[in-house]
This record gives sequence, C-alpha cells and structure tokens, in this order.
Amino acid sequence: MSTIIYPSPIFGPVHSRRLGLSLGINLLPADGKVCSFDCIYCECGFNADHRPALPLPTRQEVAHELELKLQQMEAEGQLPDVLTFAGNGEPTCHPHFAEIIGDTIGLRDRYCEKAKVSVLSNATMIHRQEVRDALMRVDNNILKLDTVAPLYINKVDRPNGSYDVGRIIQHMKAFEGHLIIQTMFMRGECQGESVDNTGEEYVGPWLEAVKEIGPRQVMVYTIDRETPSHSLLKATHEQLDGIRDRVIAAGIPCTASY
Ligand code: SF4
Repeated sequence: MSTIIYPSPIFGPVHSRRLGLSLGINLLPADGKVCSFDCIYCECGFNADHRPALPLPTRQEVAHELELKLQQMEAEGQLPDVLTFAGNGEPTCHPHFAEIIGDTIGLRDRYCEKAKVSVLSNATMIHRQEVRDALMRVDNNILKLDTVAPLYINKVDRPNGSYDVGRIIQHMKAFEGHLIIQTMFMRGECQGESVDNTGEEYVGPWLEAVKEIGPRQVMVYTIDRETPSHSLLKATHEQLDGIRDRVIAAGIPCTASY
C-alpha cells in the first residue's frame, strides 16, 4: 500500500492540481495520521494503520520552520503561490490552530505578500468559534462536504464520534460565502457495498445543500492517488463535468479535477 505520510510541520513545495505552487503546512505528527474522519479514500491511509508516536508540532516549531523555508525559497527566487494547511490529517484539530493561522498570515505578509493562505479541512471543528474566526482570516477556506446522506458519511468519511451534517451545514452558512466547498465523487465499492455518490439520489440533495450554504466556489474532484480501500473507482470526466455544470447553472463558480 503506497499511501503518503507527509513530513511535518513543513513539506514541499509541491505543484497542486487546484492551488498552484503550494508550500504545505502539516500540523500533525511526522510519523502518522491524526484525523476526526477516517475516509476510505484517504491518501494517508486508514487511521488505525498510521497511529503516530510523535507529538503534534508546537506553534513555535511551525512558525520557525515556516520562516526558515520561506527564507530559503526567497534566496532561490521561487516563492510559493499558496501556503496550504494540509498533510497527515485534520489541521483544525491542533489546539493552537487559530494562533498558528495568525503567525502564518504574519509570515506571508513579510515574505510573500501575494501568496494565498489555504486551509483544507473536513469541517468537523467549525462548531468552535475560534476555529471559525481563524478560517474567516484565510484566503481559501476549503471545507469538505462529500454528501448530505448520513449513511454514506458513516460508510465513506467515517467520523470519529458524533457528526451531524445538518449542524455542519448551518455552521457553513455562518461563513456567509467565505468558504469553498470541496466534494469527492467516486464510484466502486467498499466491503461489498456501493460507495457511488455520482447518482441523482446523492447529487440532487447535495446540490440543494450547496445552494443553501452559498459558498463562493465549489471544487468537485475524484480519486487521484492510491487509496487504502482498493475497490474504489474514479468518477468519470462526464460525471464530474455534469455535476460541475449544474453547480455553475445555480450561479456558483465550480471547478472539476480529474
Ligand atoms: S478528512 Fe482528509 S485527512 Fe481526514 S481521513 Fe478524510 S481524506 Fe484523510
């Protein structure tokens, strides 16, 4: 199984399909994964297979390593287009996520003021005021919403503990458009059950929720790398294009990545 565990707290830069030259900021340990979801398509693998022994990086370590890397990139004449919070799990799980966002914005302003700060999050912590306030400060607040069907969420995203999608949608609405919704569409099966969310029974209610939330953009995508569950299939170009076009027809910009 060739899933990826990223260095911590800084990795890359890497060229991202969606974001450009992206310097990664990983607020999770370097030797494993910590996430409030356990998605069957996660490129980091299943949580149980990658339990870390190392602690989370501290706020000070993140700021120090980020500044060193930006100084190095500045000296090489290649500054990033985006500083992306991603990596081995859910960045908003870090207890000092809000302070780290503040530090990162300060370093961005000092070294690469044109770069965007992006956060890729599964939205499970947006009930916390300090997390919402921090996400309001970043340029690209990218929040996962794979479906609105609780059974599908439990089968595919597999939240640890309780997860109320209705409540998540209400908190997403509170961003008043300052968010990008990211949705994984795929086909195939897991443990003998279909995990295809490309049909109307999933796309229709999802689209209604998206319209209710009113994000400034939607990103639909499909599996790109090896997944821990091996019987998953990519959504087709035609399926993604069709979903993208329906979002655009609803007046919301949307991109599809294959
Ligand atoms: S939310 Fe992201 S990091 Fe967490 S399990 Fe799912 S794909 Fe992996």
